[in-house]
Amino acid sequence: AGTTELLLSRIRDVPDYPEPGVMFKDITPLLADPEAFAALTEAFAALAVRYGATKIVGLEARGFILGAPVALRAGLGFIPVRKAGKLPGATLGQSYDLEYGSAEIEVHAEDLAADDRVMVVDDVLATGGTAEASLRLIRRAGAQVAGVAVLMELGFLGGRAKLETTLEGAPLDAL
Ligand code: 5GP
Repeated sequence: AGTTELLLSRIRDVPDYPEPGVMFKDITPLLADPEAFAALTEAFAALAVRYGATKIVGLEARGFILGAPVALRAGLGFIPVRKAGKLPGATLGQSYDLEYGSAEIEVHAEDLAADDRVMVVDDVLATGGTAEASLRLIRRAGAQVAGVAVLMELGFLGGRAKLETTLEGAPLDAL
């Protein structure tokens, strides 16, 4: 309970960003507070143990900042899932729908093995489109989904419901 309140107190609401009518959840105050950042890392690392994860996947870009220390803390490898065109090696790609148009994410296929159980880390679950695409990518790379962990879930956007089928029973936790 103390951790939840600490984390919540370090998230700033920014109105009308990135466009009018949107209330953006800004995590930079949390990153700037080492006590809060450490508490978040510990909470994510505990989930990695509970999931039995063997790899941490972070989603560009805030999932990199949050996921990398979790991987080190849990003693697991870190794998970036990037926006298309950023990874130099042989990639697998997965596109997904946005409100207007589409986006694509990629991973280095050789970084994931068939016996890997992957925990996906990101800051915010909104519509669930990004997380869903990452789960498809992990499965297409031949690995298993151990679970999805986010700092925050924007419940009114329905991401959890969207992910339900794709999770195939794997846990989704919002801290
Ligand atoms: P989704 O694909 O679930 O609609 O959007 C999730 C992605 O967009 C995440 O990678 C997340 O970083 C970003 N995102 C969407 N809304 C917010 C927000 O209010 N705050 C932050 N920090 N990220 C957001």
